[in-house]
Amino acid sequence: MTDERFQDPGWRLWNFGDEILVRCPRCDARAVVVVHPDHREGHRYVIGLLTAPHRLSCTGCGHTAEWTPRRWQRGDDGDPYFTHGGPLLVPHLTGPNDPYFDLPLWLQRPCCGHVLWAYNQRHLDLLEAYVAARLRERGGWTGSGSLLERLPAWIKAADNRPEVLKCITALRATLPS
Ligand SMILES: [Zn+2]
Repeated sequence: MTDERFQDPGWRLWNFGDEILVRCPRCDARAVVVVHPDHREGHRYVIGLLTAPHRLSCTGCGHTAEWTPRRWQRGDDGDPYFTHGGPLLVPHLTGPNDPYFDLPLWLQRPCCGHVLWAYNQRHLDLLEAYVAARLRERGGWTGSGSLLERLPAWIKAADNRPEVLKCITALRATLPS
């Protein structure tokens, strides 16, 4: 990971929302939140996947849980997604808890006085490539608001680079190789 140049691929956080690693509420091991297997097909837009039923499953203890989308109502703190069945509340993707079950993300760690977090390994890979690069270029075509453009300043700060990379390495060590 010593590439000098890094070009922003324009990814958004939702590009990593298809597999969110969390801490199992029952056994504390690594569990995963994904779109429910019965609701994976037939989505024309990513927002359809984001608002589809989700499932939590833990291979450690066998625990599973279901999340079903809630109807959007005026005054809700979130955007509506209009479907034939009515408007659905779009989950607010953020961290360091997952947007569906509000469980702590598996990949999180105190770093530079803040919390560094990622949804999954691909998300971690992107952060690492970005932080490690000496020269960061905007994608140009991405417009504004990509995941990397929205990163907090402390992650982007050159002074913090060694510690951020150390945190990423430590997080990676908690994943199966
Ligand atoms: Zn478990």
